[in-house]
Amino acid sequence: MRQAVFTRDQHRCGNCLGHIKEGFTLDPDHIVPRGAGGSDRLSNINTLCRKCHKAKHGEGIAPSIHLVSSGEMTGLEFMWFRKLLREMIPAMARAFDVRLEPKFGLDDQDRWYLPVGDLRRLDRQLLEADEDDQYSSFRPEQYM
Ligand SMILES: [Zn+2]
Repeated sequence: MRQAVFTRDQHRCGNCLGHIKEGFTLDPDHIVPRGAGGSDRLSNINTLCRKCHKAKHGEGIAPSIHLVSSGEMTGLEFMWFRKLLREMIPAMARAFDVRLEPKFGLDDQDRWYLPVGDLRRLDRQLLEADEDDQYSSFRPEQYM
């Protein structure tokens, strides 16, 4: 069962898109929990990485890029940067039919979270939409 689910999902987390080759531990996860009447059929089981699986059950957060103010930007520069994250990036994502909503202030007012899965989806869409081959997709293996 586990292997059938992982094979169907190409060994990739359904939330953050982390791949087993990138060191992610994968778990099968019931989309509708068994306790709520969910079945054990493959259609009700999704592949999640361990971090996303725990986050779904309220433990920690899914892989995210954390942006924390270092205090080196001026107040105006930080306002522009926050505006870029909060409005411009989601607007660009929407143009490519990707939902990307930076989450602000899970812990405090100076910390931002950008879900890695949303960034990967945006990266894929930008690559597919790039007819002039000017956009190069992010490939982790080039940096490891
Ligand atoms: Zn994940």
